[in-house]
Amino acid sequence: MGHFTYKIEIRGRVQGVGFRPFIYTLATSLNLYGSVLNNTQGVLISVTTTPEILDIFLEKIEKEFPPLAFIDNITTQKIKTEKFTSFEILDSEVNGESSADIPPDIYTCTECEKELLDSKNRRFNYPFISCTHCGVRYSMIYDLPYDRENTSMKEFEMCKQCSQEYTNPLSRRYHAQPIGCFDCGPKLQLLDATNKYTPLQQKDIPQRVVDLLLEGNIFAIKGVGGYHLVCDAGNDEAIKRLRERKKRAKKPFALMVKDIKMVKSLAKISEAEEKLLLSKERPIVLLQALCKNDLIAPNISYIGLMLPYTPLHILLLDKLKTPLVVTSANLSDDPICTSLEEIQKLEGIYDYILEHNRIIVNACDDSVMMIVKGQEIMLRRARGYAPTSVKLPFKTKNNLLAMGANQKSTIAIAMDDKAILSPHIGDLNSISSVEHYEKNIQTLKRIYDFEPDVLIHDKHPNYESTKLALKTKKTTNAVQHHYAHILGVMAEKKLQERVFGVVFDGTGYGEDKHLWGGEFMTCDYAGYERVAHIKYFKLLGGAKAIKEPKRVALSLLFDCFGREALSLDTPAIKAFSKTELNTYFVAWKNSLNAPLSSSVGRLFDGVASLLGIVHIMSYEGESGMMLEALYDEGVKGTYSFTYKDDIIDIEPMIKEIILQESKSVAVSKFFHTLVEIISAVYKDYELPIVLGGGVFQNRVLLELVLDKFPNAIIGNRFPPNDGGIALGQIASTLLK
Ligand code: ZN
Ligand code: ZN
Ligand code: FE
Repeated sequence: MGHFTYKIEIRGRVQGVGFRPFIYTLATSLNLYGSVLNNTQGVLISVTTTPEILDIFLEKIEKEFPPLAFIDNITTQKIKTEKFTSFEILDSEVNGESSADIPPDIYTCTECEKELLDSKNRRFNYPFISCTHCGVRYSMIYDLPYDRENTSMKEFEMCKQCSQEYTNPLSRRYHAQPIGCFDCGPKLQLLDATNKYTPLQQKDIPQRVVDLLLEGNIFAIKGVGGYHLVCDAGNDEAIKRLRERKKRAKKPFALMVKDIKMVKSLAKISEAEEKLLLSKERPIVLLQALCKNDLIAPNISYIGLMLPYTPLHILLLDKLKTPLVVTSANLSDDPICTSLEEIQKLEGIYDYILEHNRIIVNACDDSVMMIVKGQEIMLRRARGYAPTSVKLPFKTKNNLLAMGANQKSTIAIAMDDKAILSPHIGDLNSISSVEHYEKNIQTLKRIYDFEPDVLIHDKHPNYESTKLALKTKKTTNAVQHHYAHILGVMAEKKLQERVFGVVFDGTGYGEDKHLWGGEFMTCDYAGYERVAHIKYFKLLGGAKAIKEPKRVALSLLFDCFGREALSLDTPAIKAFSKTELNTYFVAWKNSLNAPLSSSVGRLFDGVASLLGIVHIMSYEGESGMMLEALYDEGVKGTYSFTYKDDIIDIEPMIKEIILQESKSVAVSKFFHTLVEIISAVYKDYELPIVLGGGVFQNRVLLELVLDKFPNAIIGNRFPPNDGGIALGQIASTLLK
C-alpha cells in the first residue's frame, strides 16, 4: 500500500482551545508520524500515511474536535513525500495575514472548578486556575498566533510544576496559555478606599473580601475584561449607597448568583434559559423575577442573572451564599475600566478594590441575552461571544471595515468570506468612549494584520463613527441605518432572497434627513425600497425628546387636537407648566427645533407618558420595560389606525388611548395594535419577513409578533439594536 505525505490545513477557532494536543493524541492513537503546528491562519498538520488511514484521521478530526473549537474548513493536499520518525508538535509559524479566530473569554470548566475546591489539589483556592478548555483568552491577547508571549501572561514565568504540565501533550494544561499557580501566576491584592494595600496572605484574601462585602462595603473587583462594582444584593443599604454614588437612580442591576438553585429562588426559568445560564459563555440572562425588587430593578418584571464565570467569582460566591450585585465599573458614558489607574478615577464609589496583576489587554463587558419563544436573543454581545467570526453569504472583493452606528457601537472587519465583529464597545458620547472605539479598530487591525480598502459608515453625518470614516482618505460607503439593521439579520442567517423588513427602532438617519424608526422595506443585498412608514411626528426639543417622553406625548396630542390639546385633562399635559405648554405649542406649530420622526421607539415613549407611566426617563429603554411590566395577556383588541398611501397614521390610536382608564388595558391594546400594523402592511407581500431594530428587544412585542408570524426571522447571534449594524454594513458592501 502506498504511503504519501499530506498537508492538512484547518481553519476556524482552532487556537487556544487544545487543538494541537487533540491532534497529537489522535495521531498517536492511529500510529501516524508527522507534525502539527499553529500558523496565522489556523492549524497545519503534516502526516505520511495511506489514503485509507488519512480518511479515518480526517473523519475523527471532524467528529471529535475539542469542546471550544469549531472548524470552518479543512483542506488536504498531497505534497512531496517525507519520512517522519515520530509525531511532533512544532513551534508556531507566522505566515502572512492572520485569519485564525481569536478565542473568546469563557467560564471555568467543571474539572478546574473541582480542583479549585479540592483541598488536596495544589491549586486549591487559586483564583486564576484554568486549562486548555477554559478561562481567559481574548481579553489577554495582544496578537496572534495565540502563544503565551503574545498574551499578558508573558509577565509570569512558569514554575517547574506548571511548566511540566504546559509541555506535556497529555496534560489538560498542555499549552494552556493562562496556566499558573500560587507560586508563579497572577496574584490578588486588596486595596482600601484610599488605595492603600492591605497586607494579607494570598489564600486569606477571598474570605476577607467576603467579610467586607457582608458588612455592606462596595467593591471594585478586577475581572476578565474589566472591573465590576460589586455589593451584597441582600443588603438594601449597600445597594442604595451604590446607586447614590454611581448616580444611577433606577437602571436595573444584574446579579451574580452561586448556582441554578439560587437562580430558581429568584426567577422563573425555562429549560432553554437554564441551558444558557450554564453555557460556557455565561452571559447575563434576563429572567422573569419571582418578586419585584425596587432596589435592584425598579418597576420592571425582569431581572438579569448570571452564574460565576471565573475561579475568583466561584470562591467568593461559595463563601458568601448570597447573590451579588455585579455591574460594569465605569463613569456614565465612559467605557468599562480595565486598569488600576482607570478604576481609581472612580474613587468615592468603591470602599475597596480587589485587584490582580494580570493586565487586561482588551476590554470586554458582560454579554446580555434573553430567550423569547425558545429563541436566543442577543442584547449585548461581548464576553464569551466576541470576537467571533461569521461566514458571509458572499465573498468580498475588498477588505472592509464597518464603523457601526453611534449607540451600542461595534465594528467589524471582513476579508474573503469572513467577517469578524468586535465586542460591544458602547455609546460614542464621550471623548474616552471614542478613544476606546478607535482602540478597538486598532486592535482588530493589529491582530489580523488587516488594512481596509473600504470603510462603511452610517448615513448620519453627526455620528462619531461617520466622522472618523470620512476623516480617512479611503474609499467610503454610506449605508442607511435601517437597511443595515435588516441586512445584519440577512447576513447572520445567510438569506439570499429578497425579504420584507420591519424595522422598529429608536432613531436612525433617513434618506430624507428625517429620523426614521417605524420602517417597512423590501430589500436584498443590492438595495432596498421603503414601502411604508409610521406617519412623521415632531420631536419637540430634538434630542431632548429622547430622554423626555412627555415631549413626544405632547407633540402627538398637538397632532390630534391642535391648540385644544392644551385644555385636556391628561397626565402628559399635566407634566408641563402653563408657560412650557405655550412655548411648545409655538415650537410645534412653527416646527422650531422639532425634527420629524417615524420612530416606534419614540412612540413607546409617547404612549408611556400619555398614560402617566413615565415622563422623564432615567435610562435608555426604561419606557419599554415599564410597558412590558404592565402588559396583560388577558386583554384582547386593538386601537384604530389608518394605512393609506404607504403611511400609517396612528392619530386614531392616540385619541383612544387617552380615553382608556386602565393603564394595563391601554398598554396591552397598544402592543396588539403594533402587531396589527405589521399585518396591514405585510398582507400584500409574499416575501420572508425579517425583524430588526432596538424596539424588538421588547419581549412582549417580539412574542406577539412571533405569535402572529411564526416564520418571522430575527437575529439570534447579533443584537436587534445598533450592536447589529456593523454586520449589516459589511453585508451592504459585499456586492460592491
Ligand atoms: Zn479548565
Ligand atoms: Zn506554577
Ligand atoms: Fe437602530
